[in-house]
Amino acid sequence: MNIVKIASMAVLLLGVAIVPAQAQSQEASSMETGQSRAQQLMGDIAPKLAELTDDVLFGDVWERPGLAKRDRSLITVAALIALNRPEQLRSHMRLARQNGVAEAELVETITQLAFYSGWPNAIAAVGVAREVFAENDAQNGKPAPSTDDAVVVTKAGSQPSVAGAANFTGAVRVDMRFQRPLPARTGGGIVTFEPGARTAWHSHPLGQTLIVTEGRGLVQHWGGPVQPIGIGDLVWIPPGVKHWHGASATDSMVHVAIAEARDGQSVTWMEQVDNAQYRGSGR
Ligand code: MN
Repeated sequence: MNIVKIASMAVLLLGVAIVPAQAQSQEASSMETGQSRAQQLMGDIAPKLAELTDDVLFGDVWERPGLAKRDRSLITVAALIALNRPEQLRSHMRLARQNGVAEAELVETITQLAFYSGWPNAIAAVGVAREVFAENDAQNGKPAPSTDDAVVVTKAGSQPSVAGAANFTGAVRVDMRFQRPLPARTGGGIVTFEPGARTAWHSHPLGQTLIVTEGRGLVQHWGGPVQPIGIGDLVWIPPGVKHWHGASATDSMVHVAIAEARDGQSVTWMEQVDNAQYRGSGR
């Protein structure tokens, strides 16, 4: 099984956002296919909307001289903050930077709008701004965390194992933990559960993929059936779903766990899976 291939498929971003053509220079996909971003995103099922997006919104409205590009970007960012549309905001913050809006001005915009559009909208916008600024630092050659162009191979066994602590029951070991630098959001590790060991109840803000590589285990979402899992099985935990995973009572289990972080967080821990709950699994 090609774990790397499966893993990369599992973490494809679902975020959809559209920005004008001049903002796409770093998005190689458009150059490879010769299609606009709008055509790529929706041309297959909504060709008219893609055409209107390209020709009317970006070809005409964004090109009108009545507002400077910089001002157009600033008001668009403000509207997206007020509407709490983080995916669109991400693209338009990038474009705003290209159109000459300074990072400090974007932060000031968010601060101002906290009072007019609501605190949660502003907090969400701060998270988006952090990601966009980090990308910008990387492009400008600032020493952002390991954003070299070099491919990084982390040799097996080169990192110390970490014992699963407060958020697990039983003997749990985590190997080869990783968290990729922004703008990547993927993180995870290889988790070994001895027989009977399991996670506490928890959830993941952007979901989680598990790939079982050894043994036999169990997974359950709150109120749902306990499902046995074995070598080669893939598990998808949808965003925000309370669940646990672990070994069966008689066999150990190893899985690769992959989750994306939102605002730097990839898991929310809850109460332990007590013995009655675990036995309730029928194992
Ligand atoms: Mn999980």
